[in-house]
Amino acid sequence: MRLSQYFLPVLKETPGDAQVVSHQLMLRAGLIRQTSSGIYAWLPLGLRVLRKIEAIVRAEQDRAGAVELLMPTIQSAELWKESGRFDAYGPEMLRFKDRHGREMLYGPTNEEMITTIFRDGVRSYRDLPRSLYHIQWKFRDEVRPRFGIMRGREFLMKDAYSFDMDAAGGQASYRAMFAAYLKTFARLGLKAVPVRAPTGPIGGDLSHEFHILADTGESEVFYDAALEDIDLNDADATERLTAIYAMEAEEHAKVVDCPVPADRLRSRRGIEVGHIFFFGTKYTEALGMSVQGPDGVNVHPQMGSYGIGVSRLMGAIIEASHDKDGIVWPDAVAPYQVALINLRADDTACKTAADALYDQLTAAGVEVLYDDRDERGGAKFATADLIGLPWQLVIGPKGVAAGTVELKRRGAAARDELSVEAALARLIA
Ligand code: ATP
Ligand code: MG
Repeated sequence: MRLSQYFLPVLKETPGDAQVVSHQLMLRAGLIRQTSSGIYAWLPLGLRVLRKIEAIVRAEQDRAGAVELLMPTIQSAELWKESGRFDAYGPEMLRFKDRHGREMLYGPTNEEMITTIFRDGVRSYRDLPRSLYHIQWKFRDEVRPRFGIMRGREFLMKDAYSFDMDAAGGQASYRAMFAAYLKTFARLGLKAVPVRAPTGPIGGDLSHEFHILADTGESEVFYDAALEDIDLNDADATERLTAIYAMEAEEHAKVVDCPVPADRLRSRRGIEVGHIFFFGTKYTEALGMSVQGPDGVNVHPQMGSYGIGVSRLMGAIIEASHDKDGIVWPDAVAPYQVALINLRADDTACKTAADALYDQLTAAGVEVLYDDRDERGGAKFATADLIGLPWQLVIGPKGVAAGTVELKRRGAAARDELSVEAALARLIA
């Protein structure tokens, strides 16, 4: 993509109303714009990141055996009255009437809807176990939307739902999802801590939240210091993360015999990026879903539900990966891999060389954002640093005369002077 033809409204100044660094950088780097309180438009660069996060979440759901479908954002209130949650959910639920006076709502979650869809589509135990998921916008009329898309009112969530014939099966589905979550967050470059959680309004008896430790998190997490030594690249990282002691403050306070010695107990703020529940037959009973077992007896399937805050993850990634100049995207979610910077758009030799590199990289499948604008070099570097693409490839008159380019890894201090061939080989590898 040529920057001269793109839409990237970056801001020089930090917007005064943005309190946390991820929100400031998302506004400054032209990723999002607020359209009303807690509601955001995703600008082209931000949308590319959102799609990449979504793709990783989807790939790991698919790998775990979950099946994707898409449910609507708007739901009928009837469904929620049947489960008893229409009144229980409270003012976070956005309710309205259609032209016929029917009560509707913008879905804050989908337990009811998936249960009726699955109920109407299965006949016997042979159709179970099954996990179904979708990635869809949710609306919750948060009392205090803040930190940009971190606590928005409209936000993108992956929500999965498992159905099993018995509790042991339900717990196995829960464990499979638990493992898929750790893999998902690791692929996003994040160390997510599984935290034992109370089950809250969804109900049931088994629940974990996944937190990214960051000073701007809204929860407080107590954990074993051994967590800090776990390297995501270690082969046993998942097992070690699964076994670590970690609790939200409120739950930790209830623990009588803490297994972690006092000198190893730490506490930090955490950003909740995922939440999983096993709640048994709560909805299948309420919504009259039963399935005939092999012995001819009907049972209510055991359910779990599993959420990931896809849009919130973008904020969490930036909180975990930035420096004073801007965002430092992990390769896996970077909107483009390479910022190609032509320092002299008015120089024919530079333009010819930069155009050729752009064509070669693009043809090789490398995602390049080509700064071909007629701007000063300093402004181009500042933009490249701010938007945080993993590589910066710089073309200038001296290098063009000598047949070289400069290549820099975002976040690293050194800039390498290389032949064009060597630079291409590094980027295409
Ligand atoms: P929180 O305690 O942060 O309000 P929650 O417990 O209400 O979260 P869940 O109902 O478990 O959230 O939703 C699943 C995931 O959706 C959460 O783990 C979080 O990552 C994300 N999420 C929830 N509310 C919001 C929001 N207002 N804005 C962005 N993401 C959200
Ligand atoms: Mg909430």
